[in-house]
Amino acid sequence: MAWINENFLKLSAGYLFPEIARRVKVFCDANPELALKVIRCGIGDVTEPLPEVAVTALREGVDDLAIRERFQGYGPSAGHDFVRGAIAQSMFRDCGVDIADDEIFLSDGSKPDASHFLELFGSGNVIGVPDPVYPVYVDTNVMAGNTGVMKDGRYQGLVYMEATPENGFVPEPPSQPVDVAYLCSPNNPTGSAMNRAALTRWVNWALSNDTLILFDAAYEAYIRDNDIPRSIFEIPGAKKCAVEFRSFSKNGGFTGLRCGFTVVPKELTGRTRDGKRIPFHGLWSRWWSTCSNGVSWPVQKAVAALCTPQGQKQMKALCDFYLANAAILRKAIAAQGLQVWGGENAPYVWLKCPAGLTSWDAFDVLLREAQLVTTPGAGFGNCGEGFLRVSAFNSRANVEEAGRRLALLSAAPSKR
Ligand code: PLP
Repeated sequence: MAWINENFLKLSAGYLFPEIARRVKVFCDANPELALKVIRCGIGDVTEPLPEVAVTALREGVDDLAIRERFQGYGPSAGHDFVRGAIAQSMFRDCGVDIADDEIFLSDGSKPDASHFLELFGSGNVIGVPDPVYPVYVDTNVMAGNTGVMKDGRYQGLVYMEATPENGFVPEPPSQPVDVAYLCSPNNPTGSAMNRAALTRWVNWALSNDTLILFDAAYEAYIRDNDIPRSIFEIPGAKKCAVEFRSFSKNGGFTGLRCGFTVVPKELTGRTRDGKRIPFHGLWSRWWSTCSNGVSWPVQKAVAALCTPQGQKQMKALCDFYLANAAILRKAIAAQGLQVWGGENAPYVWLKCPAGLTSWDAFDVLLREAQLVTTPGAGFGNCGEGFLRVSAFNSRANVEEAGRRLALLSAAPSKR
């Protein structure tokens, strides 16, 4: 008899993206003549080819595996030293942030990292999550048994940190203490980003409450405003209270290739029940050597190539392309007289639905009337109700067409 992890049974039935896929399929099956017109600005997946430096390095990596003298087998679990060093130098030390090579742990992406990191925690931690939230933070905590059941759209036991138009979609530290708090900046789904003052308030609060911040910086490459930190470690004291998740998915287009990393400072500690402080660095090293054999050789070579000056230039060009898409979407939405946020330091645009429409109403209107797929804000949490996320990850032609079709949303209430 294999007993199951019954926490899985607490998960709310329709994960957001399968539900979107289901509605799109129902629409396309019922309207085959319109199926080809569908433009997908829903899921946040990149559309453009990989930077040239990465392609060249991948080819070289495959050649290495084909030649006996250059063959590579298992590497160190947390990544080859030259790759960890290239990341620490180009993405941190060159930006004035003192991170050591061995504080970088290479992985197959920041979604798996955010999930696996929970294995380092004991039971009974109080977890704080933003609302709206990247659903992975919530569901992985449900699976890990860190929550009760869902009631009125929220899991009992979690502390929801509300992001609203009033706080610019940047939650303040909660009034009650939490043991672990997730922050995501630039934010998925709202496209907001935390400025230096806001992030400093969070770090100081975490230090005085002995809270661990799990800082998701998967979209840092989209930051263009100098007052927005690219890393939480730009804030004094953060190495004592935070880990940072990074990804090559959205800066290097690696969503299909898979690579990310987590920064775990050596001075970061957690508590045992009998009051000892234990560094997370050692625990995470142990997790990697026990549970993984790391990232493939060609992918690691591609990551090292992205860290070169030429690679960084190509990544910036890729992000600039998606940011220009976001600007087109913002302009089109504002032209409809709708309120719009995000899209300036993030590849997501967040809009307020016309009065009288819920998120799913607005989603259905755009699918039905405009064959445009967006993401309903309500799928990211109660505070997302009444908002829609539009992803800027698409071709220029599709984004320009999506901008035109968005006009059908402001016309929607009179059509219903
Ligand atoms: N973190 C956030 C906030 C995301 O939006 C995403 C992907 O959409 C990820 C992490 C996942 O990144 P990866 O592809 O590296 O697993």
